[in-house]
Amino acid sequence: MLRLLTNTARIAPCSAGMTSGSAPAPGEDGRGRSRDQQEYGASARGVKTARDHDGAVRNGGVSFWWQQVGLPSPADRLEGGTTCDVAIVGGGLTGLWTAYYLHEADPSLDIRVLEAEFAGFGASGRNGGWLSSELAGSAATYAAVAGEAGVQRLRAELRASVDEVVDVTDREGIDADVVRSGVLYVARSQAQAGRLAGELDARQVAERIRVAGALSGHFDPDCARVHPAKLVSGVARVVRERGVRIHEGTRVTSVGPGVVRTERGTVRAPVVLRCLEGFTAGLAGHRRDWLPMNSAIVVTAPLTDAQWDAVGWSGEELLGDEAHAYCYAQRTADGRIALGGRGVPYRFGSRTDVDGRTQDWTVESLRTTLTSLFPALEGIRFDHAWCGVLGVPRDWSASVSFDPATGLGHAGGYVGSGLTATNLAGRTLRDLVLGRSTDLTALPWTGHDVRRWEPEPLRWLGVHALYRLYRAADRREDAGLTRTSRIARVANRVAGR
Ligand SMILES: Cc1cc2nc3c(=O)[nH]c(=O)nc-3n(C[C@H](O)[C@H](O)[C@H](O)COP(=O)(O)OP(=O)(O)OC[C@H]3O[C@@H](n4cnc5c(N)ncnc54)[C@H](O)[C@@H]3O)c2cc1C
Repeated sequence: MLRLLTNTARIAPCSAGMTSGSAPAPGEDGRGRSRDQQEYGASARGVKTARDHDGAVRNGGVSFWWQQVGLPSPADRLEGGTTCDVAIVGGGLTGLWTAYYLHEADPSLDIRVLEAEFAGFGASGRNGGWLSSELAGSAATYAAVAGEAGVQRLRAELRASVDEVVDVTDREGIDADVVRSGVLYVARSQAQAGRLAGELDARQVAERIRVAGALSGHFDPDCARVHPAKLVSGVARVVRERGVRIHEGTRVTSVGPGVVRTERGTVRAPVVLRCLEGFTAGLAGHRRDWLPMNSAIVVTAPLTDAQWDAVGWSGEELLGDEAHAYCYAQRTADGRIALGGRGVPYRFGSRTDVDGRTQDWTVESLRTTLTSLFPALEGIRFDHAWCGVLGVPRDWSASVSFDPATGLGHAGGYVGSGLTATNLAGRTLRDLVLGRSTDLTALPWTGHDVRRWEPEPLRWLGVHALYRLYRAADRREDAGLTRTSRIARVANRVAGR
């Protein structure tokens, strides 16, 4: 068995409806249910269909991606106490990649993943499918600890990680609709154009995708389109086949050195890795570590050939804009547009959604965004809407940490750019746990420490005020401001970004 880097040889790492004991927020009842949830309730797995409610978009049910491939039932629940070498808390991509690389490094390790629902239930099975090399966090924050050279190393590793994920999917036979298609960012106001400093003019943008009002654009080739549920379920299948046990339906209630307490028994392990990202606040003692930021997505009905001609999107590149409250989109493998944006940014008391159900007004706001990008799609049917949470640290920068003295580690806080970062974080955690000193363990996010978020109601008030400011800044820029709105600069300073 490998030498685990711990000084002690102790033998023994949103869930659905996860709530806190805080006071109800405006629009929520005492059980943390929003007005929507009070009105409609949450049916099996939280899905709501057009048949439930005339004219409503199918909403929740974890995500469209999971509905497409079929929702799994939790398997291999923990039955009582046990011991293992490495206990990973959270069966999203951070936890699964960590298990994959640790097992690859030492197949003799007994690795257990403890997952409250099923592998991929969280953001990893709900995201926009941008496998991008975007920096997971703030360049200025990383530069403060590792200089500009450190930031460049992190960027280079993230670019290489896009290739790594694509290679693993090829090697392991994971069919996740992966196309290494790049991403097109568009600027739709002078202020956005100033921030983007793109190399494409309006005509060149239109040759790729006919986005209304696009003034300029930037094409980044280091990005791939993926189907999130196919990717995460594929990685879960591979690690299971290798012998890693994923105990689904097993909610962890607390973690400490050498011990993980779950609702179904206690796991003792010398290494305990917390991989909960946006769900971290649900764990005892971690309420204010990372803010569970909400993001929502809608998916259209398949477009007709005439509609695709009208929007001029013949390739499979991802699409994003430069607004402060930005949007992100992909052309799905089955010919739809999936479009995401912020919606309600944060729920009081760090609550998470119920099985991905999002607010109706968020759906309408994403409809406005879609038809503003593509007026030809006015009136198009939406087939599904859902949301999820991602983890936002107080300084908006990710961290990967492991303390050999306690055997405790964690990774996450990718601030919405986690799909690629989870892979890099998984390989970094592997090196840290194995006591290796590598290029990865020297990246600026390793061991990065951050202060906690403010208590409520300051947290709720602050985040909502922040997004009101960003929306106001976007409106001013859309109205013709030629430089980035001062309101957005103030918001960034207040946020500590
Ligand atoms: C709507 C949306 C769109 C996004 N789009 C993109 C994108 O296009 N590109 C990109 O790079 N990033 C995107 N992100 C961010 C990215 O998806 C995440 O950063 C990444 O998936 C995080 O993976 P994770 O494994 O750390 O967390 P998660 O995937 O959230 O996994 C955490 C797991 O922990 C489980 N869990 C929760 N509580 C407990 C408990 N008490 N005990 C045991 N298990 C528990 C959950 O069920 C979940 O499965 C998006 C996020 C969202 C929400």
